[in-house]
Amino acid sequence: MNKINEMIQQNTNTCSNPTDLKITDVRVTNIDGAPKHCILIKVYTNQGIVGYGEVRDASSATYALMLKKRLIGENPCNVDKLFRRIKQFGGPSRQGGGVSGLEIALWDIAGKAYGVPLYQMLGGKFRDKVRMYCDTDIDGKHTGTDMGHALKKRLEQGFTYLKMDLGIELMIDEPGCLNAPIGFLEDIKKYSAKAINHQKGSIDYDMMMGKNYETFTIPHHATGIHITEKGLDYLENYVKEVREVIGYEAPLAIDHLGHVSINDAINLARRLEKYNIAWLEDVAPWHYTDHYVKIANSTTVPIGTGEDIYLHENFEPLMSRGGVSLVHPDVLTIGGALELKKLGDMCDKYGVAMAIHMAESPIGCMAALHCAAAVQNCLAVEYHSTEIPWWNDLAIGIDNPIFVDGFARVPEKPGLGIESLNEELIAEHIHKRYPGQWEDTSMWDNEWANDREWS
Ligand SMILES: [Mg+2]
Repeated sequence: MNKINEMIQQNTNTCSNPTDLKITDVRVTNIDGAPKHCILIKVYTNQGIVGYGEVRDASSATYALMLKKRLIGENPCNVDKLFRRIKQFGGPSRQGGGVSGLEIALWDIAGKAYGVPLYQMLGGKFRDKVRMYCDTDIDGKHTGTDMGHALKKRLEQGFTYLKMDLGIELMIDEPGCLNAPIGFLEDIKKYSAKAINHQKGSIDYDMMMGKNYETFTIPHHATGIHITEKGLDYLENYVKEVREVIGYEAPLAIDHLGHVSINDAINLARRLEKYNIAWLEDVAPWHYTDHYVKIANSTTVPIGTGEDIYLHENFEPLMSRGGVSLVHPDVLTIGGALELKKLGDMCDKYGVAMAIHMAESPIGCMAALHCAAAVQNCLAVEYHSTEIPWWNDLAIGIDNPIFVDGFARVPEKPGLGIESLNEELIAEHIHKRYPGQWEDTSMWDNEWANDREWS
């Protein structure tokens, strides 16, 4: 009998005994250029299983590490229980990155422990492959025809859904296209250059300091910038040129208009109606529900927002009041995979479409693919890294190339579907400002507060 027991033990995978799993450590590595500043997370356990997560792009590892002590010793498979414990420490945009990135890592561990892919734990999949849409930028001064050709190249690469930037910065040196308090456009160029020149990569440290920060954070309705009739002609002609090159068959979304008032956004949206715009994105700060309702009620161009919204319930005011036709969540801001799944249900309730924002490493991408598979009505997932040849190689065990003819296969391996990370490649791309690779984080072991949110 002992012999049989011994044989059973030898032939059984005891690597994971989910009920006895415990979180033992949380560590991070900052890399740059994948496509932005990406903070990769590893959550370690007492059974050798490591979960991968990622803090939202251009964020801070602190948002994850400050939660370490609250997770140590817990069973990572109790994802919802642990999420509810750390949920209070997330917030809009990058602040949501810590909670969301850890939630993803917990799912990754649970999936590896039970041997199932993440989408399965969300209730199964609605599709075997996910449509990707590709953001497209062009450096410097260019025409709509130039953009049209860049987008046409995307179509030739197999992409079936397009998005481009159409920002007021295109007209900043065009006389008579914009008006603003005298000198303010000069300030924008000087202090907010990285914010209005999206092609230059991530918003970085310098943008958060002094006059840069002041200029960068003036919301749309308060800049005093207005688009003149000539400016509207300019932008309309740009889109007309784009459509002349790419035709009308493929959807074309527009992002990064710039910080202009809702009235200007309405004027532009009306000009663009005849060019079949898939959606116009982030034309006001997301929390101004009334602004969105007014814009949405004033044009037939679908209005979308959401990459900076934390928790699915914070989408509801916009959706219930008709402020958006499309939501655009980021799995690494919303609070993770289960929140995104809940948002998908809310989309069905209100009849709102979904596309998923994603500008992250393969870890964030795999999380987005599982969510896109598990949400009934998801149009597409964004992809920002077409021009980064090493991006796909960061994760081992995923499809390579991950995108074929504009689609990605839904991962079928346990958890996120990543077998391991390419540590040598990560070492080559460590962020200069945040050196170190999976270094000791014991300095966070005494982080503590009375976490009860009421008395
Ligand atoms: Mg966007």
